Amino acid sequence: MIPKQIAIVGGGAAGFFSALSVKEHHPNHKVFLFEKTSKLLSKVKISGGGRCNITHYSEDINSLCDAYPRGGKKLKSIFYQFSNIDTQNWFENRGVPLKTEYDGRMFPVSDQSESVIKCLISECERLGIEIQVNHGVNSLENTSDKWKLHFSNSKPIIFDSVIITTGGSPKSKGFDWISNLGHNIIFPVPSLFTFNMPNELITKLMGIAVENTSIKIEGSKIKTQGSLLITHWGMSGPVILKASSLGARLLSEKNYQFEIFINWIDETNTELLFQKLNDFANSHPSKLISRNNIFSLPNRLWSFLLEKAEVSHDQKWNEIGKKSIRKLIETLTQDNYEVSGKTTFKEEFVTCGGINLDEIDMQNMKSKVSSNIYFAGEILNIDAITGGYNFQAAWSGGYVAGKLG
Ligand SMILES: Cc1cc2nc3c(=O)[nH]c(=O)nc-3n(C[C@H](O)[C@H](O)[C@H](O)COP(=O)(O)OP(=O)(O)OC[C@H]3O[C@@H](n4cnc5c(N)ncnc54)[C@H](O)[C@@H]3O)c2cc1C
Repeated sequence: MIPKQIAIVGGGAAGFFSALSVKEHHPNHKVFLFEKTSKLLSKVKISGGGRCNITHYSEDINSLCDAYPRGGKKLKSIFYQFSNIDTQNWFENRGVPLKTEYDGRMFPVSDQSESVIKCLISECERLGIEIQVNHGVNSLENTSDKWKLHFSNSKPIIFDSVIITTGGSPKSKGFDWISNLGHNIIFPVPSLFTFNMPNELITKLMGIAVENTSIKIEGSKIKTQGSLLITHWGMSGPVILKASSLGARLLSEKNYQFEIFINWIDETNTELLFQKLNDFANSHPSKLISRNNIFSLPNRLWSFLLEKAEVSHDQKWNEIGKKSIRKLIETLTQDNYEVSGKTTFKEEFVTCGGINLDEIDMQNMKSKVSSNIYFAGEILNIDAITGGYNFQAAWSGGYVAGKLG
């Protein structure tokens, strides 16, 4: 095969994997990777609190796809070509062993994102990939089926094929140069954020974490389960971040003004709960309700919820009555809060939106709109809940794009 000149635009996870995959599948091609800033793999470096949550353990491809509110089943074809298991093998075969945490998140055993970065950069060096930092691509010009790349600070260069991996952007302006190629951009909005509750007294319980909760966003079908963290500005934790991911677009449309219902004990069978509380009241009539935190909630939260349910601090179980038991159950299972605004989660945030997947051949990540152009990573309308899935989409997409199929 005649050696070709291939450009990769963007030096993040998807860009590196695209470049390495081109060399794996087409060893004679000359590969150039252009990064606009002076830093390579900057998100890999800060991800997972500096540990890099590289991927997520998953039994099968279907459950992997379930983690992507944008992308979903359309990702099947790239995951069949390069899965989370392939990610694990790829890094382990190159001297970066991985470990799986209790919740399925996978990290390098070193707990250092630096080991992932070193591995990717040294592989590029070994394979002769030319990396150029401070080379922002401003535009692409089509010249007889090839692409002339225009840079911000150097002369244009012509390439046979281009893989674009410039990541997400919270503003649609960031996608303008891609729109000029004829692609439609699904309007970008942030995903993975925490909820602000400036008017709610619960924030005085900041620092309290509750293991098994579920939440529901009012007026929607969005329901999530998991642990919840009360913060000084509102609520965070996996159950909230997952809801922000599922509801990224809806919540943006609501201008981040909405109500949520919290089930603090993740139990919806209210008759069963009534039976449980009633039985407890009958067998412990003279005990103080405030001292009998029967659902093992954090004590300060139990007191807060009792006050909300109008159960006084010195009330005993034989004084509560059936009506108050019902009210307490309602507070425990349908506790209502007003959300007003969002705060970006410090560990991880992604863009919901980007290039419309209908315009991409998901078998090979090739543009259906422009010839010899491929895309991978967060620039596409693909994003997931937290846990390593966003990187997995970047590794898989990059690997498949690099085949230049
Ligand atoms: C703080 C933080 C923590 C995260 N932690 C995790 C985690 O632990 N696990 C997980 O799965 N996901 C995590 N994510 C999400 C994950 O980092 C991204 O989904 C992933 O990095 C996307 O990879 P990418 O290569 O598509 O884009 P990026 O990593 O954003 O890389 C794009 C690159 O392209 C460059 N670029 C942009 N425009 C141009 C241009 N015109 N010319 C040349 N270069 C350009 C950019 O400077 C950038 O270096 C985190 C995100 C953040 C912000």
